Amino acid sequence: MDDLSRFLADVHKEVLPETDGQVASYIPSLAQADPDPFGIALATVDGQLHTAGDSEISFSLQSISKPLTYALALMESGFEAVDAVVDVEPSGEAYNRISLENETGRPANALINAGAIASTSLLPSGGRMSRLLHFYGQLAGRRLHADAQIAMEELEGGHRNLAMAHLLHSFGKLADEPVQATRDYCAACATMVTTTDLAWIAATLANSGCHPGTGEQVIDPLVVQRLLSVMTMSGMYDEAGWWMVRVGLPGKSGVGGGIIAVAPGKLGLGVWSPRLNEHGSSVRGVRTCEIVSRELELHVMGSHRPPSEDGLSAPTAS
Ligand code: GLU
Repeated sequence: MDDLSRFLADVHKEVLPETDGQVASYIPSLAQADPDPFGIALATVDGQLHTAGDSEISFSLQSISKPLTYALALMESGFEAVDAVVDVEPSGEAYNRISLENETGRPANALINAGAIASTSLLPSGGRMSRLLHFYGQLAGRRLHADAQIAMEELEGGHRNLAMAHLLHSFGKLADEPVQATRDYCAACATMVTTTDLAWIAATLANSGCHPGTGEQVIDPLVVQRLLSVMTMSGMYDEAGWWMVRVGLPGKSGVGGGIIAVAPGKLGLGVWSPRLNEHGSSVRGVRTCEIVSRELELHVMGSHRPPSEDGLSAPTAS
């Protein structure tokens, strides 16, 4: 076993006894989920994969779909069109907060439900789900599918999401009809992934949008820069501040129990365990990210960095 795999095995052992938190209960499929599995996967930008625990069990992507959908909307519709309907401000709010800017009706960012439904609506409605699944699959490096039962439960119980879609529509911030936009948002949340998929998705973001295993340039580097900035400010809802202080990496959690954390230029981390804290993030997941970030010195504001030898050099004028 190599050093990183041994390290992940040790982290898994350390965090496993943590059984605080509750599985999500707003739909039957999540409420009945086994609370115990725990997987960790780490993929480096040079294409190495290291795993520990239940890294090959499938679960639903949930809100981790939001930054990915946002990226596709930015690439297909352009920054200006997306910025017109979704802002980039940190909301520090719960995922399902009915949060629209007073004057304009713009959601604060694409990582709360209102913003995610708005960015979903920007993608052309014909073939939208197959386009999204293809894109998520390019990021993971394999074909992915959405679970029809979970998608249906999300929509049937999704009164608040439907209400937000109607509100967005009333403000002219929805590019599609509200029920269809919500249906596709729910189906995107129901995309099935493994912890290993999460690590590859995160590593692709860490590698400026180029999948380190397949070599495919999936996302434009400028879109990745935007995405990671928004994830840094808003990826962890009303826990974004503590997450940034403790983990110090752009991250995104989902109520299926998955979390991605991105160390730009270095690696992507995926963690999954279904018991959630009061903010809707995996308890073991947050703890794991904290330990990995600390031990591998990944915090983007890290005080561990030696000063560069030649200091800050100004770009040469052309
Ligand atoms: N499908 C969930 C919802 O829209 C996603 C929430 C989450 O993962 O934070 O309610």
